[in-house]
Amino acid sequence: MSEEQTCQRCGEAVELSREDYELFERMHPECFHFAFEHDLDKPGLPVDEDCGDPACPAGA
Ligand SMILES: [Zn+2]
Ligand SMILES: [Zn+2]
Repeated sequence: MSEEQTCQRCGEAVELSREDYELFERMHPECFHFAFEHDLDKPGLPVDEDCGDPACPAGA
């Protein structure tokens, strides 16, 4: 079991359990957020702008 988990969005290695990796559609949690949640309310919102979601990486 040395199959590498790579992010479907940014291509970097994902250091998560297989379960979490599948849960986030084979992406980093941040990448999943940007891919599916970040611009739901404001389509086209830049990734460096807080979308208002408490889990938004841009708001940190
Ligand atoms: Zn990623
Ligand atoms: Zn966001």
